Amino acid sequence: MIATEPRTAPLDIERLRADTPGCAHVVHFNHAGDSLSPRPVLDATIAHLEREAEIGGYEAEDEAASRLDSLYRSIGRLINADPEEIAVVENATRAWDMAVYGIPWQTGDRVLTAQSEYGSNAIALLQIARQHGVTVDVVPNDEHGQVSVSALAGMLDDRVTAVVVSHMPTNGGLVQPAAEIGRLARAAGALFVLDACQTVGQMPVDVAALGCDILSATSRKFLRGPRGVGFLYVRRPIVERLAPPFLDIHAATWTAADDYEVRTDARRFENWESNVAGKIGLGVAVEYALDLGLEAIWDRVRSLGALLRQRLAAIPGVAVHDQGRIKGGIVTFTVAGGAADAVKAALRAEAINVSTSTVTSTRFDMEARGLTELIRASVHYPTTEEEIERVVAAVARIASGGAHR
Ligand SMILES: *Cc1c(COP(=O)(O)O)cnc(C)c1O
Repeated sequence: MIATEPRTAPLDIERLRADTPGCAHVVHFNHAGDSLSPRPVLDATIAHLEREAEIGGYEAEDEAASRLDSLYRSIGRLINADPEEIAVVENATRAWDMAVYGIPWQTGDRVLTAQSEYGSNAIALLQIARQHGVTVDVVPNDEHGQVSVSALAGMLDDRVTAVVVSHMPTNGGLVQPAAEIGRLARAAGALFVLDACQTVGQMPVDVAALGCDILSATSRKFLRGPRGVGFLYVRRPIVERLAPPFLDIHAATWTAADDYEVRTDARRFENWESNVAGKIGLGVAVEYALDLGLEAIWDRVRSLGALLRQRLAAIPGVAVHDQGRIKGGIVTFTVAGGAADAVKAALRAEAINVSTSTVTSTRFDMEARGLTELIRASVHYPTTEEEIERVVAAVARIASGGAHR
């Protein structure tokens, strides 16, 4: 190992594909749903399940204690946080919930969110609004279809408790101007809550540079880890200001018959029982991404996304719907006369995986843009140009009058 070797050497795509069992079976354009795990992630996850079966789950967990502990340091390196600021929980939504429901909401508070906010977060905000008499306002988009930073600046006042944004929406490849949003929120004394489900693992994400107080992310998407695990970051000075909506014997200690003490680190947002094999797999996935380098990953994902967008847009009857100044690996489109589910099924019949996005997952945005559904094709660094051509050819056949009509 040469010390001066740049961390972001060019990615060896052949090797990385050979390291991904799924590449031999499917043309996977659903990394935004659930990526294909690389072999080391799979091996570590399976090995732990086997160890649980061989020696017992508690004993296997003891044996893996140092690897489980290093997961927090790995995530910390990935997003530039301290290990005590990280909680590992069952998914990104619950991670986000544990922090946001824990904000000491007062009647009359305002929350500002983005037009592209994710459905589960929007539903939670609406519930919080009903429970606490809080107002939820949507910040309009700018001419690029991303959060208008100037509109946000005009809407912030001392009633705004939190600004809640998804870094990259589930239904489009745009990267929100998170650092600018963070700066404005901080200056106004509001918490900045960033749902980074679609960006962690796809691009460099630095909580200090973005100025976020709370961040949630998942294992299974661009990090390529197992399903059923995610994590939460809460900035140190904020941790003890948030009251977790659920406490158990891991998050708190039962200190007297009528009393308990809540942990002072971010693990107050965790719960006792968890998918240990999934956590071990996530740890390997984070190290795998760090070894490749997030800059190198992001360069490749961005250029593959741009190529797919350009090639799809050239097909008669296909409309590409992504917005934003900076776009990543999520590509959304519609096919004239073709229902999204039918297009997805026709592609699936050719071993091409895509997903669909409907109004219920991003209602503010879909209504504002007059859309009811989208086909979502998401690339990642193992994707090849040849695969893009295969997908484009298949979509072109469908658009020219396939059996889906
Ligand atoms: C996928 C997604 C989520 C939900 O992640 P889970 O792991 O299913 O909880 C949240 N926000 C965005 C923007 C997403 O794309």
